[in-house]
Amino acid sequence: MAAATSSTSLSLLPSSSRQRASAHAAPNCLNVAGLRSRAPFARRLGFAGVAVDPLVAHVAARISNVASAGKGPRGVVSMAKKSVGDLSASDLKGKKVFVRADLNVPLDDNQNITDDTRVRAAIPTIKHLINNGAKVILSSHLGRPKGVTPKFSLKPLVPRLSELLGITVQKADDCIGEEVEKMVASLPEGGVLLLENVRFYKEEEKNDPEFAKKLASLADLYVNDAFGTAHRAHASTEGVTKYLKPSVAGFLLQKELDYLVGAIANPKRPFAAIVGGSKVSSKIGVIESLLEKCDILLLGGGMIFTFYKAKGLSVGSSLVEEDKLDLATSLLAKAKAKGVSLLLPSDVVIADKFAPDANSKVVPSSAIPDGWMGLDIGPDSVKTFSDALGTTKTVIWNGPMGVFEFDKFAVGTEAIAKKLAELSKSGVTTIIGGGDSVAAVEKVGVADVMSHISTGGGASLELLEGKELPGVLALDEATPVAV
Ligand code: AMP
Repeated sequence: MAAATSSTSLSLLPSSSRQRASAHAAPNCLNVAGLRSRAPFARRLGFAGVAVDPLVAHVAARISNVASAGKGPRGVVSMAKKSVGDLSASDLKGKKVFVRADLNVPLDDNQNITDDTRVRAAIPTIKHLINNGAKVILSSHLGRPKGVTPKFSLKPLVPRLSELLGITVQKADDCIGEEVEKMVASLPEGGVLLLENVRFYKEEEKNDPEFAKKLASLADLYVNDAFGTAHRAHASTEGVTKYLKPSVAGFLLQKELDYLVGAIANPKRPFAAIVGGSKVSSKIGVIESLLEKCDILLLGGGMIFTFYKAKGLSVGSSLVEEDKLDLATSLLAKAKAKGVSLLLPSDVVIADKFAPDANSKVVPSSAIPDGWMGLDIGPDSVKTFSDALGTTKTVIWNGPMGVFEFDKFAVGTEAIAKKLAELSKSGVTTIIGGGDSVAAVEKVGVADVMSHISTGGGASLELLEGKELPGVLALDEATPVAV
């Protein structure tokens, strides 16, 4: 049986960060005017009732309930989806729970897990379920198999899962069928059965209703904790919800929503967004969405050269998207119209070739010579950006400031990571919105101090763009409570 711990909080964040987030939470949550003005954004994400007073009261009540009941990191603002934390022993004891997690871990040639972050991230939800007497049927994908592919089996997950849960996790050789049904039937209360890679069936990604029905037939209720695949409507992320009630969010999914939706929909101000990365085309949606909410927008990375060119500056051989010049101009105009301080770097580190050993120098952004390309933001920009960030209470960061994979051009990105760490320690809510910015804060060794590090790539980006995630929409709405 599982160790008798009642903790359901995410172990990814140090408790100090969680407490900090919670400490910031209450005033935000009670800012009814703020919630109302941001309501359309929240509604698009399936936060249907966020504009109505009962739910605002409900959210506020849940924050204070959580604070007193120690139910986990509901810190910044609670989402209006039913959560696994809402299910207690009376709902769970003896029940078969289908848990969709994201156990898509990297494996080396000997099938050893080289990074167990995703396994650890799945543990709080599973522990909550088994500690309350549920029988957990655990499902995930791994890699991109084409049919049954032994190297993408979930078998290598069993030892680490067992160790972290303190029980012997059982493993099925399939994810549907008679053998699996027998194993489910003999699963004890508090037991965990890991199903085989759900993507061994092409029906999974096709969201085939018959396949979804077969998966769902194994269980009584459903928990989705796979944030990384919540932007895909697959059989195990969306299809099964049609057959299992309740269908609720796991702690990891809930926390991602709390920060990437809640904290951004109703931020403690001033609120700054830092957007970097290679191309403006891949971040249009994020920039447009954040322009609606932030007070300060800092731009870095390869995309800045499209903005400079649009402003009539020469950019040498820097990355430019010629077909996005008008877009850059319109984004600058939009920022101005909305009163958002949009800062472009004042200086850049340029290189004579795209290589780690390129010759480099710092020049003003307006003086990039022909034949040179900008690969990082310069020291003046780091100072200006840091000063601007120093005035904020909430910061979201998506995309590196330069080609941080090359040490020579990682300085700007690393300086921003360090600045955010410093701000985080002084109580600013710092959200690292997935992808390469996560790699950057990990490289600098400051991931642990951030308020939230998103575990999703595509899913984080879609949330930041204000899109609906099918895997979230499909979950049951939280029931408003009388206060
Ligand atoms: P994204 O996936 O859009 O966030 O882009 C991340 C990539 O942008 C990283 O691989 C960086 O190397 C790249 N990048 C950042 N700055 C630049 C730049 N100035 N020129 C070219 N690529 C860049």
